[in-house]
Amino acid sequence: MNGFKKDPYYLLKSFGVNIVLFSFLILLLLSFKPLVEVNFSVLSLLLIPLGLILGLVSATAFHNASHGNIKPRYLNRLIGELTASLSLEDLRCFRVGHMLHHIHTDDPLLDPHPPQGLKFFEFIVSSRRKTISCIENLYYKHHGKTVSSMKNVKFQIFFFHIAAVLKLVFWFYLFGPASFLLFFIPSYLAYFFGFAHLNYISHQEDRGDGTIYNHNDNLFFKGMNIVTSGGYFHKNHHACPGLYNPSKLTR
Ligand SMILES: [Zn+2]
Ligand SMILES: [Zn+2]
Repeated sequence: MNGFKKDPYYLLKSFGVNIVLFSFLILLLLSFKPLVEVNFSVLSLLLIPLGLILGLVSATAFHNASHGNIKPRYLNRLIGELTASLSLEDLRCFRVGHMLHHIHTDDPLLDPHPPQGLKFFEFIVSSRRKTISCIENLYYKHHGKTVSSMKNVKFQIFFFHIAAVLKLVFWFYLFGPASFLLFFIPSYLAYFFGFAHLNYISHQEDRGDGTIYNHNDNLFFKGMNIVTSGGYFHKNHHACPGLYNPSKLTR
């Protein structure tokens, strides 16, 4: 967060590095791999459940890397960047948005994704728009709202999306159409909807015990907690964000 507050180009640099890196990787792949290679058999269908599991495990590692919870510490950057690319996200950008969620939890204006009063799909649509506007407002707070800072923000949004598209193209060329469809897409959907559902169900109306909830009371949550290392123990996560597996919180 300090880098974001001090350096007006903090996010732009990260998006720029990713654009250069993934452009290079795509060119590298194109130089020795056929453009379209379809290898499909009935066994390929097994890739779907593997992709779903990878998406959830990867989302868990991505979230924990953003908190610096992976040991040894240098792995946070490595695993964080790798899982960010699988999620078509940016590690620095995600970290800034996620820290705002932890600092301003369930504040209707300052939390990037407070779900109160929203249906699940309304929450998904509003979260993306609201995350961008919360980061944008924080940017103006620290770097002033001038013609040049507004231009910088426009570039940030543009380059973020260019980097995301390049990551998608890279995975498509790396996996080939069949594995991309049967492995990468389920993995991405599991990341996207798993993360959204976790945030949605864990932050709800105050029932007299605060707005954050742990869930482990049925087969679905128990299974998800195994795959996501206790991800649905979200109340515990907010109480102790430094634990990779918040189900292990004892106090
Ligand atoms: Zn939360
Ligand atoms: Zn967190």
